[in-house]
Amino acid sequence: MHNNLVNIYKDYIAIIGAGISGLTLGIFLKKQNIPCIIFEKFPSISEYGAGISISRNGQKVLKEIEILDKLKLISGNPKNAYFISNNKEITSFAIDHVTTSRKVLHSILLEKYLALNGEIKFDHELINIDNQKKLLSFSNSKNLYVDHIAACDGIKSICRNLLSKDKLDPVYSGYSVWRSIINEKQNDVRFYLGPNFHVVTYPVDDNKTSFVGAFKRLKSTEESWRTLGNYNELRSDIPGYILDKYPSIKHNKEIFKWGVYTRTDMGNMYMDNITFLGDAAHPIVPFMGQGGCLAIEDSYIFGKLLIKYRNDIKKSQSIYHDIRYSRVKKIRDDSLNQATFNHLKNPLLIYIRNLLMKYTNIIHILTKKVWDYDPKKEIANINNQ
Ligand SMILES: Cc1cc2nc3c(=O)[nH]c(=O)nc-3n(C[C@H](O)[C@H](O)[C@H](O)COP(=O)(O)OP(=O)(O)OC[C@H]3O[C@@H](n4cnc5c(N)ncnc54)[C@H](O)[C@@H]3O)c2cc1C
Repeated sequence: MHNNLVNIYKDYIAIIGAGISGLTLGIFLKKQNIPCIIFEKFPSISEYGAGISISRNGQKVLKEIEILDKLKLISGNPKNAYFISNNKEITSFAIDHVTTSRKVLHSILLEKYLALNGEIKFDHELINIDNQKKLLSFSNSKNLYVDHIAACDGIKSICRNLLSKDKLDPVYSGYSVWRSIINEKQNDVRFYLGPNFHVVTYPVDDNKTSFVGAFKRLKSTEESWRTLGNYNELRSDIPGYILDKYPSIKHNKEIFKWGVYTRTDMGNMYMDNITFLGDAAHPIVPFMGQGGCLAIEDSYIFGKLLIKYRNDIKKSQSIYHDIRYSRVKKIRDDSLNQATFNHLKNPLLIYIRNLLMKYTNIIHILTKKVWDYDPKKEIANINNQ
């Protein structure tokens, strides 16, 4: 152990992971000069070819940290979403999502954090935590004392694995996902619903489109951003009439497949000196496109609470849990149910679903509470109490 190093960060909030939640939290803390440092296991921010869609609940926070306008300039800004079942349009409605690539979102967040003189240590993979002593150990043999630990280390969170009493392995959900960024121009969002599958496509910028195809599959697929597949495999899982609308995908070398896994709910968003944010707090299946937005909301709420109760982290943790837990649990549960709704195969149920989508405002009802949520109001409510 390097004794000269261990105490340098003892007054800092240590943020584990430079993903969406870690960078967003870092920005809020740096804006108020709260000492913080981000530790990221990779040598640079991750740049996997994947899209992400940010609904207005997430956008409210990005606006507050002054990156929304820049993001919009270089992203897709679709104005309509179309729902297609059995190759026929069922319905469409207006949307105000920003759809972009994960690489662009991460880069803009990092740029903002660095502009605030944010400190980040790459090549720092956390491997152990002494939660009582607030001591972090990294694979590069560094051991550092910190003031508090913000676990922002994503779906496979080591913080969660080390500290959770529940040591159950993740369980394959029965769904796998194909994803790719393809050279196709598209201005809107399209949802293709079919028996045992659904496909979502949206623009990530003026020339490229994100393709995500989820399908039921008994045999589990690896849970990895980097597992490459090929066009023939993709075509055996997703109907050709959809793929033929995106001809460039046939020649795309970067078609990835991802096994969707579920994890047990920890029932709490903090544990002693560690607070969980984003996927580390509430691992979620991607069928409502809300994991990243919830990560952004978490960072806003926890960041604002740390600023408000600067000398009382315990109070921040407890209010953070009270505000966040029921919302993230509901969306987490609903995300899994969404796949069932999308993948219906009984013709009568498909007919009823499509009628409901076409002639009622069921989609608005289902999305309103999720997208209209305003994390700023939550904090304003506390300030008024
Ligand atoms: C196919 C798919 C589509 C999706 N689409 C959407 C969408 O449209 N909209 C949406 O809102 N969400 C979407 N999501 C969900 C979204 O990607 C995640 O919920 C979001 O990235 C979570 O952010 P996070 O900060 O918790 O974790 P991440 O962004 O995953 O960041 C975790 C960071 O921690 C680092 N890390 C991990 N372990 C360690 C360690 N031991 N030490 C140090 N660093 C570590 C990682 O390298 C990474 O940089 C989708 C997910 C999938 C799989």
